[in-house]
Amino acid sequence: MNYIENRIQRELNILNETGGLRCIPNIGHDGKYISTLIDNVQTNMINLSSNDYLGLATDCNIQDKFMESFDKDLFSFSSSSSRLLTGNFSIYDATESLIAKTFGKEAALIFGSGYQMNTGILPAITDKKTLILADKLVHASIIDGIKLSNAECIRYKHQDYEQIENIVKKYYNKTNAIVIVTESIFSMDGDVTNLQRLVKIKKSYPSVMLYVDEAHAIGVRGHKGLGIAEEQNCTDDIDFLCGTLGKALASVGAYIVCSKSIREYLINKMRSFIFTTALPPINIAWTKFVFNNIEEWNDKRERLTLLSEKIIDKIRSKNIECISGSHIIPLMSGSNEKAISLSDIMQREGFYVLPIRHPTVPRGKERLRFSLNASITESEIEKLCSTIEIII
Ligand SMILES: *Cc1c(COP(=O)(O)O)cnc(C)c1O
Repeated sequence: MNYIENRIQRELNILNETGGLRCIPNIGHDGKYISTLIDNVQTNMINLSSNDYLGLATDCNIQDKFMESFDKDLFSFSSSSSRLLTGNFSIYDATESLIAKTFGKEAALIFGSGYQMNTGILPAITDKKTLILADKLVHASIIDGIKLSNAECIRYKHQDYEQIENIVKKYYNKTNAIVIVTESIFSMDGDVTNLQRLVKIKKSYPSVMLYVDEAHAIGVRGHKGLGIAEEQNCTDDIDFLCGTLGKALASVGAYIVCSKSIREYLINKMRSFIFTTALPPINIAWTKFVFNNIEEWNDKRERLTLLSEKIIDKIRSKNIECISGSHIIPLMSGSNEKAISLSDIMQREGFYVLPIRHPTVPRGKERLRFSLNASITESEIEKLCSTIEIII
């Protein structure tokens, strides 16, 4: 074996021995249910690990409506090229205009995925004379975007607004620009960022800009479903307002809403936009359909809030700390082993909820993570509450 083959084998062995080996689960899908083999019996469970927060991805009625409304001849399963070559279709422009208008912003741009968005925008907009100030817990795609950029970077303690202010005070004279980067709902604890606090800092320092990833909030929060920025009334104040289309919006890809010049600049400088095949027009048509209807799904958003409050209350009633302010809810277990055994019990009770282990989270912060969705029924949420009651 050569050096690389050797290293691959050695590291796989280590992962295997330490219980850290990842594998792609063998699962079946049936609407909001997942099935896997438990003790050799095919078992159906409610999927509490998906990002389909509004239940749109499993709603056949909505998909039928879309299929009825669209002209099959117009749409293709491949764009066959980058947007900048021949991969642009009129449906792209129509969808981006609609997204921009829905947010009341000048412009929008669609990307192949959230990963491509975050790894592409940050290196494009920053340089050596820029400081990126990023939350300690931002998503891997943002961390990779920072690594690909030439900017200086400081990671601040999770949602520590005083620390942000102190760093800005210290650096705003020594650097040309500061970009504060955060998510609006964090994926591990489901806690919500105070965007208004960040806007206040931005307004005191003209060289500060805000970059917010609403991956877990778009569709779910705000009266129109436009995320935490809408809920906290600061859509206009966020320079790079980003989100993904593959979670609550049940499509694929990602978007930024921003000024016209930022959009134009990204088209010219963002490598993960330029050097990749554009998403198929059919996906863009579906995204457009979803944005056309997003404001109508308030009943789903309210339902999700109600379900989330029930689970958070249940966990807190057992004296377990839960800082979630959303539909993403951790149940702290304290160790990998405990997280795995809790997940095992949950699955036997009919709930597909997965353990989040070290090294994804620090030691001592291992947990189960519930990702709720609006299609969970009354009897299902009652059973979920009583199962939590039993296992704690
Ligand atoms: C899921 C997620 C992404 C990645 O989006 P994809 O479209 O799945 O690539 C980026 N940022 C955050 C915060 C996410 O949760």
